[in-house]
Amino acid sequence: MDAIAAISTATGIGGIGIIRLSGKDTFQVLDRIFMPKKKQKIEEIKGYTIKYGTIVDEENQVIDEVLVSYFKAPKSYTTEDMCEINSHGGMVVMKKILELILKNGAKLAEPGEFTKRAFLNGRIDLSQAESVIDLINSKTEKEAKAGIHGLEGFLSQKIEKIRRRILDVMADIEASIDYPEYDIEELTDTKALDTLAFVKEQLTELSLSFKNGKIIKEGIKTAIIGRPNAGKSSLLNAILKEDRAIVTEFEGTTRDSIEEFISIDGIPIKLIDTAGIRQAKDEVEKIGIQKSKKIAEEADLIISIFDSTKELTQEDLEILELIKNKNAIIVLNKTDLNHNILKNNQKIKETNKTIIEISALEKEGIVNLYHEISKMFGLNQINLENDTLITNIRHKSLIDQAIESTDKAEETIKQNMPLDIIAIYMKNILEDLGEITGENVSEEIINEIFSKFCLGK
Ligand code: GDP
Repeated sequence: MDAIAAISTATGIGGIGIIRLSGKDTFQVLDRIFMPKKKQKIEEIKGYTIKYGTIVDEENQVIDEVLVSYFKAPKSYTTEDMCEINSHGGMVVMKKILELILKNGAKLAEPGEFTKRAFLNGRIDLSQAESVIDLINSKTEKEAKAGIHGLEGFLSQKIEKIRRRILDVMADIEASIDYPEYDIEELTDTKALDTLAFVKEQLTELSLSFKNGKIIKEGIKTAIIGRPNAGKSSLLNAILKEDRAIVTEFEGTTRDSIEEFISIDGIPIKLIDTAGIRQAKDEVEKIGIQKSKKIAEEADLIISIFDSTKELTQEDLEILELIKNKNAIIVLNKTDLNHNILKNNQKIKETNKTIIEISALEKEGIVNLYHEISKMFGLNQINLENDTLITNIRHKSLIDQAIESTDKAEETIKQNMPLDIIAIYMKNILEDLGEITGENVSEEIINEIFSKFCLGK
């Protein structure tokens, strides 16, 4: 394929920057702009070597002093000839080098095009390529670990194992169809049923792992609700300011909200709509029951906070009603004032929710809140060493689809349908699984997946 190029390091000022090139013309393009200190023919340069030299423009002006890594096909990220130019960081130098490369015959790579080539050239499958994005985007160690497992092919291997079992049965089915005189149909049926039971068990395990996978990837959407002055902002500040494990803070999907992540047991907890809560006081007053309702609907977890020194108001009662059927923890705040009149409140007790006493001001009891969250979601039980976790919704729906196909195949056998019908359903399972690994997937889906990548990857 033609040579493509892109800046692979993040934009901004940095010690070094990396510009990548891949494709069959890579070394010709490089030759036009790179003056190595010690000139060697490309055939003489081994893969995985680094050469020192300068990048020069058309007028022989030195643009930068660089190190160039050589990767020779098929031993490279894309399996094509590749090089990586390590220049000084900073956008001016990197852009100039990229421009020179483009002028000299390479095309600007699309987002994810290097990884797409690795996939199209068969070095990794589609689910592994998708793990690359997950790894890059991960916010916590656990998420990164799930990403690297995906990239290493944990899921792919599992799927391959399932596929092989199905293919084995399909071969038998074909034999039974081709040689009816051997009367092996009954035997084939038994083997097929055994295999389908195995397949279903494996797929169901994977499908169920998505619950945890989703938590790892998206975090537990958590809302702190409570009437004005209960201590929402104080709790949030206590969590955010004191907690060293804050992972990231970035613009949320809606313009006026900021999503804040904290990490408990390596799992991201996404505090939702905290922007409103953190804004000026009069904004806080606006957060009425109506807004709380909306927030509560979206949340995986509600932390419902009350001022323990005050009797419950009508608004508090409405909040109690609101959390009745939700995953919620009741927090009684301001215990430092030693006037906890809600401690044995009947209405609160009736909710049967866990009650945690804290002082947001003194930052006391916050750890107990963490423990409760961890317990509630079984966070410390998420075991990434032994289990393959599905973190990708596309994979999850294809696995569920494959489970349905498995059920149908099972039914056809039990109903004594002809073998060729059974074979059709067996094939459906293979096709569903093949969509995960990218063996039979439309170009549209492939393009959509890779468009989510960053440039230079
Ligand atoms: P919000 O309206 O729910 O966000 O409540 P704030 O966090 O703004 O707190 C309202 C008032 O209660 C502020 O004056 C806080 O300093 C105070 N406050 C919050 N938490 C505590 C606490 O644990 N103990 C005491 N004594 N005061 C608190």
